Amino acid sequence: MSTPLPRLKILAPLSGWLVALDTVPDPVFAGKMVGDGISLDPTSCSLLAPVSGVVSNLHSAHHALTITSPEGVEVMVHIGIDTVMLKGQGFQPLVEQGQSVNAGQALIDFNLDLVARNAQSLLTQIIITNGDETVSAMHRASGLVEAGKTAVLELELAGAAAAAAPTGGAKLLSPEIEITNPAGLHARPAAVFASKAKSFQSDIHLLLDEQSANAKSVVGVMGLSTRKGDKVRIEAAGEDAEQALAELTQLLLDRCGEAEDEAPATPAPIAAAAQQLESAELLVGVGASPGLAIGRVYHHRLQEFDVPEFGQGAGLEQQHFARATEEAAQQIDAVKSQLTDKAKQAILSMHQELLQDPDLLAQTYAGLADGKSAAWSWRAAFSSYSARLEAQDNALLRERANDIRDVGRRVLALLAGIKQASLDVPAGSILIAEDLTPSDTAALDPKKVRGFCTRTGGATSHVAILARSLGIPAICGISQAALALPDSEQVIIDGGRGTLRIAPSAEQLATAEAEIAQIAERRAAEAAMSQREARTSDGVRIEVVANIRNAADAREAVAMGAEGVGLLRSEFLFDNRDTPPSEQEQAEEYCAVARALGTERPLVVRTLDVGGDKPLSYLPLPKEDNPFLGLRGIRVSLERPDLLRTQLRAILQAAPLTRLHIMFPMVASLDELRAAKAVLAEEQAASGRQDVKVGIMVEVPSAAVMAARFAPEVDFFSIGTNDLTQYVLAMDRGHPQLAKQADALHPAVLAMIAMTCDGARAHGKWVGICGGLASDERAAPLLVGMGVTELSVSTPALAAVKATLSRWSAAECRTLAQQALALSTASEVREHLNAQAR
Ligand code: PEP
Ligand code: MG
Repeated sequence: MSTPLPRLKILAPLSGWLVALDTVPDPVFAGKMVGDGISLDPTSCSLLAPVSGVVSNLHSAHHALTITSPEGVEVMVHIGIDTVMLKGQGFQPLVEQGQSVNAGQALIDFNLDLVARNAQSLLTQIIITNGDETVSAMHRASGLVEAGKTAVLELELAGAAAAAAPTGGAKLLSPEIEITNPAGLHARPAAVFASKAKSFQSDIHLLLDEQSANAKSVVGVMGLSTRKGDKVRIEAAGEDAEQALAELTQLLLDRCGEAEDEAPATPAPIAAAAQQLESAELLVGVGASPGLAIGRVYHHRLQEFDVPEFGQGAGLEQQHFARATEEAAQQIDAVKSQLTDKAKQAILSMHQELLQDPDLLAQTYAGLADGKSAAWSWRAAFSSYSARLEAQDNALLRERANDIRDVGRRVLALLAGIKQASLDVPAGSILIAEDLTPSDTAALDPKKVRGFCTRTGGATSHVAILARSLGIPAICGISQAALALPDSEQVIIDGGRGTLRIAPSAEQLATAEAEIAQIAERRAAEAAMSQREARTSDGVRIEVVANIRNAADAREAVAMGAEGVGLLRSEFLFDNRDTPPSEQEQAEEYCAVARALGTERPLVVRTLDVGGDKPLSYLPLPKEDNPFLGLRGIRVSLERPDLLRTQLRAILQAAPLTRLHIMFPMVASLDELRAAKAVLAEEQAASGRQDVKVGIMVEVPSAAVMAARFAPEVDFFSIGTNDLTQYVLAMDRGHPQLAKQADALHPAVLAMIAMTCDGARAHGKWVGICGGLASDERAAPLLVGMGVTELSVSTPALAAVKATLSRWSAAECRTLAQQALALSTASEVREHLNAQAR
């Protein structure tokens, strides 16, 4: 008896009536020139994925796309007839080309009315474009169908597609691979592994004993709770299975980029002695962020969401869900863009990754298919995953449960239409909570919150990492009794020891106060210094200025001692909008920044630095294989001189208010500089505003190497060490495995900085640094020693950088630079700077 061929069901992408393909009023479809399939007269307007797979093509007019299933079957869906003429009008894609999607997931929303009025017909075609190779027989449904539920086609698979089909298709299995990550595949290596797995089309699973997890799901991989020494296998089925096995095996052998000694320490269990210490007056937890503070108890309780169990139909619920996850991703992006701290940014990137986790999404879609509401299905999905992680022995994994709940609640609030209550805490509080989400923690105002304690979490939780970067004392894993403390009770938190003293005696308060005063004194000394001009110990003037995004940042920076602005990242004015800001809108912001600085302080405005990895919705740029090497920075401005001209006019309006400098980003050649300067000259002539300095960012190695030739044509250079490092070392600055090695202290990067300084010096031009390296106080004397005279730093770093400079003479800085330039690796340079630190 022969085995039946494997079958693949193609779901209705829209609700409506099925129509035979040969009746469609378009000879190309009716004649099956694109392939065989079926047509549908739609009644719904959210196109759902007819099959799971990868969006292998999304037409630029957004009226058609193709999904390639794991079996290699290409399913094209074409909305309407002649809708390409609409050039995207009325269509809203919810996915991107290359993205993996699940059957039933919303792909494109469209305006049924608009399309019906402007297109020849709404008939939507579902075509198997490579049916000749993959399908041996096609069974069609008829009549009324429901989007995401009814199968419109059932395909009997043939050839390679049949072989790759999960039923009976060959699966490849790797040999056993030993996990050597000290803490197993915890969040970061799991995220690296899942992200790599996603780059393959094949169905991939990670196997541990009897358990199996979707390799493309971070929560799935973490949920296996692997430990060092565990033996796992990888199973893959699909066209690129062999390559997937090879590359993923190697990735595991390389510990997913984690160094042998790098895994986060497992949270220290509460020491037995400390536990014995616990009493009604002294609660003990895990010291998560050091520091001492006296304050009053303020309880933060998580908001409850009322969620209806049943929804308004799978299609509509999916639309809600897609919008909520998209908005959640944007919210996270907004928080991320305000952070300068890489650790915090990495945590939020992981949250964004969770929003696309295939396991979480699959479980949510299953709920939707059962008629449940999006909020109900999503809550069920993320709660079950966080509960699974919470039940693990591995403390690191248990702590990631909080991240899932955080992302989960963010989406849930959006679905429920509730604005999540922000943490508005009275000044002088010690915050006590069962749980604080990492987003809550990132938004804490350190001026009001003196410390916090959570019931859950440990020293390695993201909440703890965030607390340390905010400089707030914190305790995780505090005992249950903390939750019952009366509001406003006075307490002393000791984040170093992990203790919370309740209702302290006068003597205990006095001791704590004395200690706090000592620390405050040191900080105050630095703060006092921060308003003085930055000088080396022998009086050489160095300008310490700030990197900002807007006028509010400028005011804060000045209050913290900024001597001006060395980098106004103007792209923040262009972000999160549907149209570019007008000349007037821009001018208002530039003038507000200028006013905050006054006529004595310098303002360096960088022209729009977008493109590549920083897209703008209203600036369609072609999708690029290497966005960092594509249309970025000045290249975009020269492609769109209209935008550049408007921006330059707006910037020039600020000229009378401050010492104005205009800086072009990503300049790689003199031709680019000359073209940009020509536009500027025209606008200066038109406005009569000649008193402006012009410079370039040195971020591309060619600009550093040719600094001596650029120098006669600019007034200054500002080195963007973030990009310069990635281009010198050929390491993507955001790459999960490489970002740590992309160290600006690499001797090759330092050589480029020295080259820039030499080239500038020969022509009497000044050099500043506005990349992240400038904010590293230990690097400040080294940079000054190479010839840098301006450091543009993040506002929190102003005081420390100024204080450091005051401890070094110019000659000592030069010696330090010579020593560092003679070293061979970034770690040698770093060690040397640490050893020399004052
Ligand atoms: C840099 O590249 O160092 C820089 C300051 O620019 P951005 O970080 O904005 O790309
Ligand atoms: Mg840059």
